[in-house]
Amino acid sequence: MSRPRFNRILLKLSGEVLMGDGRVSIDPETTARVAQEIADARAMGHELCVVVGGGNIFRGLAAAAKGIERTTADYMGMLATVMNALAVQNALEQIGVDTRVQSAIPMASVCEPYIRRRAERHLEKGRIVIFAAGVGSPFFTTDTGAALRAAEMKCDALFKGTSVDGVYDADPKKVPGARRYDQVSFNTVLADDLKVMDASAVALCRDNDIPIVVFNIREQGNLARVLAGEGVATVVG
Ligand code: UDP
Repeated sequence: MSRPRFNRILLKLSGEVLMGDGRVSIDPETTARVAQEIADARAMGHELCVVVGGGNIFRGLAAAAKGIERTTADYMGMLATVMNALAVQNALEQIGVDTRVQSAIPMASVCEPYIRRRAERHLEKGRIVIFAAGVGSPFFTTDTGAALRAAEMKCDALFKGTSVDGVYDADPKKVPGARRYDQVSFNTVLADDLKVMDASAVALCRDNDIPIVVFNIREQGNLARVLAGEGVATVVG
C-alpha cells in the first residue's frame, strides 16, 4: 500500500513505551532505542515534534479512583509527562540530536514554556521539539495534547506509536480473526469506538484534516519503515 510522504510529523508515544519489560518506569535502554528510532526518522529529512504521555508513572483517572482529588491527580500526571520528556531529550542528546522540551505548564528552570513560534524556529533549525504536560489542563490526556499540537504546528500527520500494528475491528489480543484496517475513516473510528486515541483527539484530527498513522513502535526500525510507506500501519483519515 502506498502512502503520501509526510514531511512534518508529530509522534505520540505513550509513557508505557519507555518501560521496557515493565520493572522500572523509565528504562534507559528502551528509551535509548526509542530515541534512535526518532533520530533515524530525523535523518530521513522529516521534521519531528514529539509528545510523550505519562501513564508509565502516573495516571490522573486511576489515582482519582483511589481517592486523590481529580484535578490534583491530573496535574501530577502532567508532571509525569515532563519527566518522560526529559528522559527522551536526554537519550536523543546522547546520540547527538539537538532537541528542546517545551512544557504547557511553565517551569523555567527545567525546560522552555510552550511558545508556538519558538517551536517553529526550532524545527526550522533541524531540532526535535518535545512537547510536555499535554494541553496544560486537567481532564485532558496527552492524546488530545498531541492532536492539538499537531494542528498548531501544522503537522502533515500524527503518528501514534503503540504496541499493536494498527487499528483492528476488535481487540486482536482477545478476538481471534479480528481484522486489521489498512485505512479507516475518522467517522468509523468514532462511531464504532475503535481503540485509536481518545474521541476528542480523533475529532480534533478529523476537523483539521490530520491523518493519524497507527503503528507498532516496539518493532525496531518500524517508524522509518512506515515513514517510507513500507511498514505495516493503519491510516485513519
Ligand atoms: N494529563 C492531563 N492533561 C493533559 C495531559 C495529561 O491532566 O493535557 C494527565 C492525566 O492525568 C493523564 C496523565 O496526565 O492520565 C498522563 O497522561 P496520559 O494518560 O495521556 O499518558 P499516556 O497514556 O499517553 O502514557
